[in-house]
Amino acid sequence: MYNYLVVGSGLYGAIFAHEAKKHGKSVLVIDKRPNIAGNVYTEKIEGINVHKYGAHIFHTNNKKVWNYITQFAEFNRFTNSPVANYKGELFSLPFNMYTFNKMWGVVTPEEALAKIEQQRKELTNEPRNLEEQAISLVGRDIYEKLIKGYTEKQWGRDCKDLPAFIIKRLPVRLTFDNNYFNALYQGIPIGGYTKMVANLLDGIEVRLNTDYLKHKDELDKLAEKVVYTGPIDAYFGYKLGALEYRSVRFENEVLDKPNFQGNAAVNYTDRETPWTRIIEHKWFEFGKDEDGNDLPKTIISREYSSEWKPGDEPYYPVNDAKNGLLFSEYKKLADAESKVIFGGRLGEYKYYDMDQVIAAVLDCAGRELD
Ligand code: FAD
Ligand code: UDP
Repeated sequence: MYNYLVVGSGLYGAIFAHEAKKHGKSVLVIDKRPNIAGNVYTEKIEGINVHKYGAHIFHTNNKKVWNYITQFAEFNRFTNSPVANYKGELFSLPFNMYTFNKMWGVVTPEEALAKIEQQRKELTNEPRNLEEQAISLVGRDIYEKLIKGYTEKQWGRDCKDLPAFIIKRLPVRLTFDNNYFNALYQGIPIGGYTKMVANLLDGIEVRLNTDYLKHKDELDKLAEKVVYTGPIDAYFGYKLGALEYRSVRFENEVLDKPNFQGNAAVNYTDRETPWTRIIEHKWFEFGKDEDGNDLPKTIISREYSSEWKPGDEPYYPVNDAKNGLLFSEYKKLADAESKVIFGGRLGEYKYYDMDQVIAAVLDCAGRELD
């Protein structure tokens, strides 16, 4: 009998398992996928660490989280600076003086602010949704060219029907600074995320290709307690109805050239281009292999966003009011399961970044194991 059965080998599951082992507990980790690491999984192809379930840039202001995760990997100094491509016109992201200069020809922060303030005047109330929040932050021109199309592709919903907090993830700056994140610590684990998660799981038994929900009765018998990091609604057989998620399809291509787009991420912010963005993975590691040699080929991934349906991977919870309400009903059921801990992006139905997942699991492990 194990002390813990951990369902999911993503960051939440791997860190919980690591902490449990450190506290002398016996742990079995299972995952339905053929690989560990959940959505941060990377695979080396043509010498390039490919982010197979979407590009992941680690960033945090939480020193405790940074000190924790850097025990398991050394991080490079990658800084995310995506470029927006609107019908062939290129703009810097996040919204900063480079963006404002390209959009309006303004040169000083005062001129940029005056432009934004003038465009913001169309709003007569506090922002109630993503569209109003975006216009309030950066004005209508930027909303129309850099936000509206991208957001509607990404979420499959009108910007008026989306919560304002989603757009507040992006910084707005009156300085010349293309760093996408306001974070003290940022980077990519050298050697890939998979190696980092393998280090977390060192010495822990892992069974892959094992779906907990298909074998729940027999697996439950193996452990005193379960840590479940899959979708909370799936755990309960969707009995209150399905929560909404966005899924993503990645179309990967190996190109026989050294440089496709000159940047790790280019967002296609018009409505017509069917993909949301193209990732060129080699630039997460500056186009070099581990020995510092230039790589002759490149690998790109086009990302297509779609509404989740049974059988797809759920990637993004849709944290609007309707789903929030349904989640709170599932949460009541979850709280009544005394032997199961629900954690992570899917278990808690939260639009968590990696650092927030780490903070959450360390907090949970502290309460559970200390
Ligand atoms: P997951 O990584 O999803 O792990 C859950 C695991 O549970 C999976 O391996 C799954 O296979 C397994 N599982 C589910 N159901 C079952 C079952 N029934 N039986 C067995 N196993 C099961 N965060 C950042 O900080 N920076 C970024 O740049 C960033 N980019 C992102 C890009 C994309 C496209 C996405 C989708 C997310 C991104 N994130 C980013 C968020 C980040 O991926 C998450 O915060 C983090 O990986 C969540 O970890 P987790 O362990 O909660 O979930
Ligand atoms: N966004 C946008 N244009 C962009 C990039 C982002 O409108 O070029 C919006 C979009 O609504 C997106 C949100 O900002 O969902 C948050 O972006 P982020 O890059 O944080 O999304 P994620 O990394 O989770 O995909």
